[in-house]
Amino acid sequence: MDIEVAIIGAGACGLCAGLAASQEGAEVLIVERDSTPLGTTAMSTGLIPAAGTSFQKSAGIEDDAAQFSNDICAKTGFRNDESITMALARESAVTIEWLAEAQKVPLSLVDSFVYPGHSAMRMHGSPNRTGAELMGSLCNAAERAGVQILTSATVTHLFADEDQRVHGIRCERPDGSLEDLACASLILACCGFAGNAEMVHRYIPEIGKGEFFGHAGNKGDAVVWGQALGAETADMSAYQGHGGLAKGYGIPILWPAIIEGGFQVNLSGNRFSNETRGYSEQAVDVLGQEDAVAWTFFDELRHKLMLEFDDYRDAVSAGAIRTGQSLEEICAQTGLPIVALGKTISEVTYLAESHSTDNFGRSFKGKKALRAPYYAVKVTGALFHTQGGLEVDKTGRVLRPDGSALPNLYAGGGAARGISGPDASGYLAGNGLLTATTFGRLSGIAAAKSALETSS
Ligand SMILES: Cc1cc2nc3c(=O)[nH]c(=O)nc-3n(C[C@H](O)[C@H](O)[C@H](O)COP(=O)(O)OP(=O)(O)OC[C@H]3O[C@@H](n4cnc5c(N)ncnc54)[C@H](O)[C@@H]3O)c2cc1C
Repeated sequence: MDIEVAIIGAGACGLCAGLAASQEGAEVLIVERDSTPLGTTAMSTGLIPAAGTSFQKSAGIEDDAAQFSNDICAKTGFRNDESITMALARESAVTIEWLAEAQKVPLSLVDSFVYPGHSAMRMHGSPNRTGAELMGSLCNAAERAGVQILTSATVTHLFADEDQRVHGIRCERPDGSLEDLACASLILACCGFAGNAEMVHRYIPEIGKGEFFGHAGNKGDAVVWGQALGAETADMSAYQGHGGLAKGYGIPILWPAIIEGGFQVNLSGNRFSNETRGYSEQAVDVLGQEDAVAWTFFDELRHKLMLEFDDYRDAVSAGAIRTGQSLEEICAQTGLPIVALGKTISEVTYLAESHSTDNFGRSFKGKKALRAPYYAVKVTGALFHTQGGLEVDKTGRVLRPDGSALPNLYAGGGAARGISGPDASGYLAGNGLLTATTFGRLSGIAAAKSALETSS
């Protein structure tokens, strides 16, 4: 079988790449190891950041690519690739309009809070704020566009010549049979290596003991194949962690509860960090506490805000969220020591009312002090997905160490080097789906153009 653009992986990146390549007029095949396309994307909240969108304009929000790019770079301490970041920020609004208009993804602006590090409200999501919903819409769009997805097919080999031009791929089917497919361009959209424990221990030992809450099928294949073809990799120690995975329930408790005035305590009832730096780096701080757990603590006001999220509603119905009408009751529910927790609540109340900053560098200015009834959920630190990967240019072409591009190999999303710098602290909320959707779209366009030129 001869294909113009082959794509490995049917997550957000692969589907956006397929839709864009097909729109350019190329014949596309997406190859996916799972029987149903889900990936990390379906596990996510599905929030895509973008600056200068029509959704923001309708809500009266002023934002632009330069401000967005600066926020992303500032989160990394300017240790990421600033020109790639700016290019993605510039394209982000085009991606959102394209998803909403051309692909009929039902997006709206999240206008109830601003994620830390973002200087404007710029998260766009589907009605229930779930990645599963996003995947459903993308799969429907693929069907409408006639983009074929070959499921239950794990790619095991790439075939390339001595100039590193890829000529085809080999897939293995669940019954062990092998199929070889020829292609003119290849896009690696098979995410990172979070599902490969050996690679995680090698590149990111600090998160090795954290819970893995990502897609198990992401084994680092893009990195391994790219390296074999002489491609450059970068920021291999970068990742999206999370300091709020409900312990024993495997449900992420999203950060708005904290951003809006909640906090985390360890089993001794004491706070241990500035929780608002970001949920990603908080993973390691939580893992450093007794039993590698913490309690995320908030009240009725923030509980109501959290009910906007499907994940949180799941956590409530699963019984992960404890509640108490008084300090005594919440301590009985959680086992937290009453004297220490009472002292922590008083300190936070003082911080909120006095507008002062605590020893960790956190300010509660503008946040209402917590009032009973109280809510708490026991959490641990987790690895969501890796952010290091193949070095690419602004159109997703995979690069060699000397900066030259491989002839017909592209990568995006978790397969490519992200924009989060070299560690967990550089991950700004939304970096994952920004690179998956926008690099997906851009690499799809570029791969299609190149394939069509080759075949004409
Ligand atoms: C709980 C959670 C919440 C998140 N929330 C957000 C959020 O709100 N906003 C945000 O920006 N990011 C979020 N992220 C991160 C985001 O989900 C990822 O960055 C993004 O989904 C990556 O997309 P992708 O297409 O690169 O990879 P994936 O969606 O993981 O898709 C890769 C696909 O490749 C397939 N594959 C792998 N290897 C092979 C092979 N050899 N052959 C065939 N197929 C293969 C896999 O099965 C998979 O389906 C979240 C992540 C998690 C875990």
